[in-house]
Amino acid sequence: MRIKVIGGGLAGCEAAYRLASDGYDVALYEMRGKVNTPCHSTDSLAELVCSNSLKSVSDDTASGMLKKELEMLGSMMLQCAYETAVPAGGALAVDRIAFSRAVEERIGSMSNIEIIRQEVKEIDFTEPTIIATGPLTSAALHEDMSLRFGCALHFYDAVAPIVDAASIDYDKAYFGARYDRGDADYLNCPMNKEEYLQFYRALIGADRVKLHSFESDEIFEGCMPVEVMASRGEDTLRFGPLRPVGLRTPDGGKPYAVVQLRKENLAGDAYNIVGFQTNLTFGEQKRVFGMIPALKDAEYLRYGVMHRNTYINAPDVLASDFSLKEAPLVFVVGQLSGVEGYVESIASGLIGAINMSAKLSGRSAVVPPPTTITGALCNHVSTRSGNYQPMNANFGILPPLADKVRDKKERKRAYTLRGIADLSACLKDMNL
Ligand SMILES: Cc1cc2nc3c(=O)[nH]c(=O)nc-3n(C[C@H](O)[C@H](O)[C@H](O)COP(=O)(O)OP(=O)(O)OC[C@H]3O[C@@H](n4cnc5c(N)ncnc54)[C@H](O)[C@@H]3O)c2cc1C
Repeated sequence: MRIKVIGGGLAGCEAAYRLASDGYDVALYEMRGKVNTPCHSTDSLAELVCSNSLKSVSDDTASGMLKKELEMLGSMMLQCAYETAVPAGGALAVDRIAFSRAVEERIGSMSNIEIIRQEVKEIDFTEPTIIATGPLTSAALHEDMSLRFGCALHFYDAVAPIVDAASIDYDKAYFGARYDRGDADYLNCPMNKEEYLQFYRALIGADRVKLHSFESDEIFEGCMPVEVMASRGEDTLRFGPLRPVGLRTPDGGKPYAVVQLRKENLAGDAYNIVGFQTNLTFGEQKRVFGMIPALKDAEYLRYGVMHRNTYINAPDVLASDFSLKEAPLVFVVGQLSGVEGYVESIASGLIGAINMSAKLSGRSAVVPPPTTITGALCNHVSTRSGNYQPMNANFGILPPLADKVRDKKERKRAYTLRGIADLSACLKDMNL
């Protein structure tokens, strides 16, 4: 039995590896190398298109909880992320090149996976298939799926720029952790009030790239362009990504605003401007971000871009195991199913693959309990709501705790403890 996995991104690689580990032959279709997307810049498998952060690992965060679940479910991609991690405080950030390489090595080590560099333009719904073509699904396949699933949905997403470490003015930047908690992994670029206000005015007035049929309410709140966030008020950025609290300068000064840079790779020769996803024209990015004193002469290895982000109206067509209600051996996973985020996409790929395996071998479906983030995402894609929107890991999608916990951090930990205990029992029950 040969299973098609379409899309060699985060969800697709996780799914292909799991199916191959379960003994199935897999044809992994990836179009890059032949056809590119507007945001990928290599033809490597599992390329991270924007930030190199897979978010927090702490057990009082929903993304930390999701990582624990993925460890229990045996995620290959999460292992690769830990192996290629770069220092990033409490977050799991990776060297993106090393991460892709690690995934390619794992996939390459499976003799029953064939990688086929080809754009798939239509789906054969009679074959066991996992569709994992992501938010940048090619136009031809998008059209084929629109015909099958009705209108595909979309929103707009933006990517932050990356600067060359050698071009940063280190006299005007300093390493430090907020409140000196944890390692000093971030490079902080402070601004005084006058510098900030000049930057802010330039930012809200700067030229943006025109997008067809662009409407501001289609922007995903979790990935809002910095200029859109700034236009909400003079101090909005100072309470968001440019928050100065706990980031005193080495001489004890209190900056008015701080832009933080995070290492892009282990070599430390490239930095991501945290929270600066943007739709400004490239010239305006250089001009306006150059008003941040430490970035005056910054050279851009990659400018920020904005693009359309496609997902299907999953509750109309998907079951909670990510399979199509009408074609139970065809699964739609990853961002295309309406989960949002790197780790969420990996999780859905894994659940899709586990269930493909279960169906093919006559075992019952495996949907993690609703008290887990993974289970809650399964519910999200299969439960009808008025206005279906992409969902990332957060405690709000979990059922309330049986007992009230007053302390906020402890309450979050309690969610994690409950979910992990429930998942552990579920895996035991299912002999997984
Ligand atoms: C620009 C951008 C920035 C993002 N930034 C972040 C971020 O910073 N943090 C975060 O957590 N999430 C981010 N996301 C959201 C999401 O987590 C990522 O898109 C993630 O990569 C989704 O995983 P995926 O496997 O669904 O899709 P992808 O990783 O994009 O993989 C899909 C693969 O399918 C291939 N493909 C597409 N069409 C075809 C076809 N017809 N035939 C064959 N192959 C095809 C593509 O080339 C790609 O390799 C971002 C998304 C975008 C688009």
